[in-house]
Amino acid sequence: MIKSFHPPQRILMGPGPSDVSPRVLEAMARPTIGHLDPAFVGMMDELKVLLKAAFRTENELTMPVSAPGSAGMEACFVNLVEPGEKVIVCQNGVFGGRMKENVERFGGECVLVSDEWGTPVSVDKVKAAFEAHPDAKILAFVHAETSTGVRSDAQALCKLAQQYGALTIVDAVTSLGGTELEVDAWGIDAIYSGTQKCLSCPPGISPVSFGPKAVAKVQARESRVPSWFLDKKLVMGYWGGEGKRAYHHTAPVNSLYALHEALVMLQEEGLENAHKRHDHHHQALKAGLEAMGIQFLVEEAYRLPQLNTVIVPEGVDEAAVRSALLNNYGLEIGAGLGALAGKVWRIGLMGAACNRRNVTLCLSALESTLV
Ligand code: PLP
Repeated sequence: MIKSFHPPQRILMGPGPSDVSPRVLEAMARPTIGHLDPAFVGMMDELKVLLKAAFRTENELTMPVSAPGSAGMEACFVNLVEPGEKVIVCQNGVFGGRMKENVERFGGECVLVSDEWGTPVSVDKVKAAFEAHPDAKILAFVHAETSTGVRSDAQALCKLAQQYGALTIVDAVTSLGGTELEVDAWGIDAIYSGTQKCLSCPPGISPVSFGPKAVAKVQARESRVPSWFLDKKLVMGYWGGEGKRAYHHTAPVNSLYALHEALVMLQEEGLENAHKRHDHHHQALKAGLEAMGIQFLVEEAYRLPQLNTVIVPEGVDEAAVRSALLNNYGLEIGAGLGALAGKVWRIGLMGAACNRRNVTLCLSALESTLV
C-alpha cells in the first residue's frame, strides 16, 4: 500500500518556488466552492483589483492564467504574434531562449539580440536591431533573468520599442513583488509573471496583463489564435467584465484563494516596503557572502536582490555542497542552469523566504559546509 505523502520540512532559498507563508497555505485549504459560485466570482473581482495594484496598471485585461509561468509566456506570444511577423527577442539567459521558441512555434520571424549570460540586455544592441529591422512588430525581453540573477532596464527598452512603433512583451516571473515594476508608467504592452517567486504562492498560476494596444492587436488579428485554451478573446468571457462570467475552463479554485491571500499580504505590506525588504536582506546576505570570499557573478548595478548568483569557489564540489545544505539543514539553494551549470549557485531571497532568519541560516550553513 502506498501511504499519504508528507513532504520534508524545507527552507526554499533557490530560484523558486520560494517558501509559502502559513497564511497562504491556510487560505488554500479552505473549502472548494464552485468556480461560478457568486462568492467565488466576487473573489475573482477582488483578485483582479489586487493584481492590477501589484503590476501598477489600470489594464482591464489583467488576470491569472490557470497554469504556470510558461503558460503566461505562451499566452502573450500566441495572442500577439501573427504568422510572418518579425519579433525582436533579447536573450541573456535561459528564458530569452524560450521566448525565441515561442515566436518560431507561432510562425513569427525571430530577430535574436544576444548578450553574455550574467549581463543585462544591451539597449544599444536592441536599438541597432530596430534600425536593421524597422518592420519589427514586437520587442520581447526578460526583466529579471532567473538563470543569471540579472535585471535589465525595462523602462529604457520599452521606451525604445515605442519609438519604433513596436509592442513589448515582458517576462516578470521573478520581478513581480520583489523589484520595481511599473507596467503603465513604463508603457509595457503585455506582461506575465508567476506565483512561486516573490509572491510566495505555490507554483501553477501565471498573472498576465495586456494593455490597450495589445488588446487592440488581439481584436484585429487576421489569423485565428492557434491555442484554444490561451485565446484571450475566449478567456475574457470568464475573466472579462465585472460580475458576468461564462464557463471557459474550471478555474483552479483553491490556488486562486492562495493568490488572493498572497496579494492581500502584499497590499498590507505595501509594494515599496516589499521592495525595500528584498534590498535590505540582499545587502545582509551579500556582506556575509563577501566576508567568506564568495563573489557575485553579476555587476552590482544589475543584481537582482531576490536572486543572488554567486561563483562556486575553486576546488569546491558544488553539487555536494547543495546536498549537504539540503540534508543537514533542510535548506535548498539552486544550481546553475544552462551555460552556468556547475559554475554558480543561485541563492533566492524571494517573498516570504526573504527574511533575517533565512539570511543567517544560509550564511552559517554555507560557512560550516565549506570548511
Ligand atoms: N520566466 C522566468 C524568468 C522564470 O524564472 C520561469 C521559471 O522559473 C519561467 C519563465 C517559467 O515559469 P514556470 O516554471 O512557472 O512555468
